[in-house]
Amino acid sequence: MKFLSEYRDPETARRMLAEIEKIVTRSWVIMEVCGGQTHAIVKSGIDQLLPREIRLVHGPGCPVCVTPLETIDRAIEIAGRPEVIFCSFGDMLRVPGSNRDLLTARSAGAEVRIVYSPLEALEIALNNPDREVVFFAIGFETTAPGNAMAIIQAEKQGLKNFSELVCHVLVPPAITALLSSDDNLVNGYLAAGNVCTVTGLGEYEGIAEKYRVPIVATGLEPNDIIEGILMVVRQLEEGRAEVENQYVRSVRYQGNIPAQEAVARVFEVSDQKWRGIGMLPDSGLRIRKEYGDYDAARRFAVTDFDVNEPEVCISGTILRGLKKPDQCPAFGTECRPEHPLGATMVSNEGACAAYYKYKPLMAS
Ligand code: SF4
Repeated sequence: MKFLSEYRDPETARRMLAEIEKIVTRSWVIMEVCGGQTHAIVKSGIDQLLPREIRLVHGPGCPVCVTPLETIDRAIEIAGRPEVIFCSFGDMLRVPGSNRDLLTARSAGAEVRIVYSPLEALEIALNNPDREVVFFAIGFETTAPGNAMAIIQAEKQGLKNFSELVCHVLVPPAITALLSSDDNLVNGYLAAGNVCTVTGLGEYEGIAEKYRVPIVATGLEPNDIIEGILMVVRQLEEGRAEVENQYVRSVRYQGNIPAQEAVARVFEVSDQKWRGIGMLPDSGLRIRKEYGDYDAARRFAVTDFDVNEPEVCISGTILRGLKKPDQCPAFGTECRPEHPLGATMVSNEGACAAYYKYKPLMAS
């Protein structure tokens, strides 16, 4: 298939893997910070094809996984109100809160609808003027522009019954937090190409320079990932720590400026809790005061919840690249995709879910 098969060509993959083998002289740890890349790495067995000096670890790149339990609980509370139509992408419905998930809330009578874009939720608000329509706006920098645009559009149309429950996380502050920690093992990063398409590359330059780590914006297809790894290894072996762009078919240095402007108009940077990791300064987005009427957390005055992860779950150490899913005692036994205990098993893009699906022998 054109535009796809060229990024999965086995001959190209073999050539790049041979090049990595040729240039590597010592051990390096490389982290990908994109759930789609984690999924592709495990599915294609890229981690098995690399020379043993290269160790891949999986970062906090799955937005569903890092959405805090408290936020899911808030969503369930709002969805349960009789005046509310709660709209969400389908993958959030099975994510467990502290007691139940949105799917269970729906079977108990809450009106929870699956939508494919925030604009679809806007349409539902337009067609249901006597109901409150709430969109569950989660994700990284990639989904923030669409969610900002929905609020701008709601304002333009004078819609008073539309709001968003927001949980947006930002990649560069998460990378900075990981690199600042005393137990950091990572020597180089594959930055998520889809995120960089929106944000551009400028934000990563200070990080590469300060922490002396190569950062390569990398696509999501298998050969993109192998090429991204090759570019990181080349830099490490040459003693360079620069920002480079593997995903040139999508990423421009300055990113998508209209998208950035829409985000800056509606959202402002705030501290944010990441499931499995904890509170990270300036690592999230919240709705600006000027758009406070569209903020479901304010509109419904949902209370703060205090919840804890199950003790057995080591997803925090997995998301920081310190452990792999198969090192968790609950992996594949107490914790499975249909009964996830922690952050990295809740979504298809989570590292534990990817290992469970594509490394079945380890799960048995
Ligand atoms: S297998 Fe389950 S319990 Fe273990 S780290 Fe992964 S999500 Fe947590």
